[in-house]
Amino acid sequence: MATHFDPYPDSYEAEQAPCGTWLGERSESSSNWAHVDCRLCLKRKTEIIAAHAVNEAAIIEQMGDMAAYFRRNEAACAAGGQDE
Ligand SMILES: [Zn+2]
Repeated sequence: MATHFDPYPDSYEAEQAPCGTWLGERSESSSNWAHVDCRLCLKRKTEIIAAHAVNEAAIIEQMGDMAAYFRRNEAACAAGGQDE
């Protein structure tokens, strides 16, 4: 049984390893490349890491947008007085 790479091993939502293999109940996955021995995952390692980095960047950007949104809201509340 090969161990596939999974950036979120605690999430049970992942049904498919990044290499495209469908994960069964007995499939192993790890976020630690040292434990990954799926040849497909290892072959695509650079690609998978790059995709993951893009994903992370998108999440961080989204959180930044959210923070900016809340800041704008706060400013609007402060400026809008106490109507309501
Ligand atoms: Zn794999």
